[in-house]
Amino acid sequence: MAFDPAEILTAAKSSRRALKAALLGWFDHNKRDLPWRRTKDPYAIWISEVMLQQTQVDRVIPYYQRFLETFPTVKALAAAEVSDVLSVWRGLGYYSRARNLHAAATELSSRFKAKLPGTVDELKSLPGFGRYTAGAVASIAFDQEAPLVDGNVARVLSRLFELDGAPGDKTREAALWSLAELLVQGERPGDFNQSLMELGATVCTPSSPTCLLCPVQTHCRALAAGRVDELPPPRKLPPRKRLELAVALSHRDGNVLLARRAEKGLFGGLWEMPALIVEPGVNPYAALRKLFGKRSTIGPEMLVLERTLTHRDLVLRLFPVALPPRLKLPPEAYLEWKWVPREETKALGMSSAMESALDEVLPLEAMKGRRPKKK
Ligand code: SF4
Repeated sequence: MAFDPAEILTAAKSSRRALKAALLGWFDHNKRDLPWRRTKDPYAIWISEVMLQQTQVDRVIPYYQRFLETFPTVKALAAAEVSDVLSVWRGLGYYSRARNLHAAATELSSRFKAKLPGTVDELKSLPGFGRYTAGAVASIAFDQEAPLVDGNVARVLSRLFELDGAPGDKTREAALWSLAELLVQGERPGDFNQSLMELGATVCTPSSPTCLLCPVQTHCRALAAGRVDELPPPRKLPPRKRLELAVALSHRDGNVLLARRAEKGLFGGLWEMPALIVEPGVNPYAALRKLFGKRSTIGPEMLVLERTLTHRDLVLRLFPVALPPRLKLPPEAYLEWKWVPREETKALGMSSAMESALDEVLPLEAMKGRRPKKK
């Protein structure tokens, strides 16, 4: 069904005051008590907003607390090694977020005296700050009338204003941002943005929204039209990809061979047991032999571990690999190679899939008591 953005904006203008009053009043009495809502520290708010992208609140809380304990200020984050930041982030996924946090902290130190600036334009000049994150930090931490649209806000506004179009549709996205920009004007912009997000997370949920308890039900066009279940239509997801890796477990004298991936791409910057993508029809032995050369000895497959990531199915196939002493490891394959004492591998930034695989085939307990030899 076509929709008229101009007509929707006019409707929003006339109902703005009452709508905002209802939402803010509801938010004041019903907001969840979340750790990042107990602070006005822009740095802490920024960290929470980045973590909350693509990740559920319950999952974020312990990571948020641990991150702030480890890196309590912009200065502390900028001074850290990126591998230490990735290590604290381990298990939260989308590791480019952690790398961008570190890069932005470095820029904040050099350009903004290690403080977050308060305007959307300045924030957007920093690594990892898109329109959403800049709007969230500017409005919540600095009370700027800055709009934001995330999945929750998009769903609420689509229903409230009966806005058609599927997620990703450019006309719909532009209309959503125009609505958000119009509505955020006025008092308490940060709380207003949070109230929209909170309504989407707790009342106006994707399936079975509790319209009877909704503070803005009298304003809701989708409810009046009986179209709540239709809006917004589901996003068309691309077909899932399968990624199969041949992984080499190589250890001796209590040390495990690990390598660090290139900064960009899947698991960018993380440590792992050396691994190669196995294309369909390719023998994983041949792939590993190519990596380590003819003098390596590859044993039979010892573990197959499957993991479901957001956009793909990951399969790790582990093989024991014995390497001759003083073998030169190919520098082009990884940023770094390292023999790491088994009990120290957890302190490095590894993906949780790789870490689970290592725990299965080389449990820490089995290595206790062995003193690693220096490499
Ligand atoms: S009335 Fe229902 S559909 Fe409309 S905003 Fe409230 S919860 Fe969402």
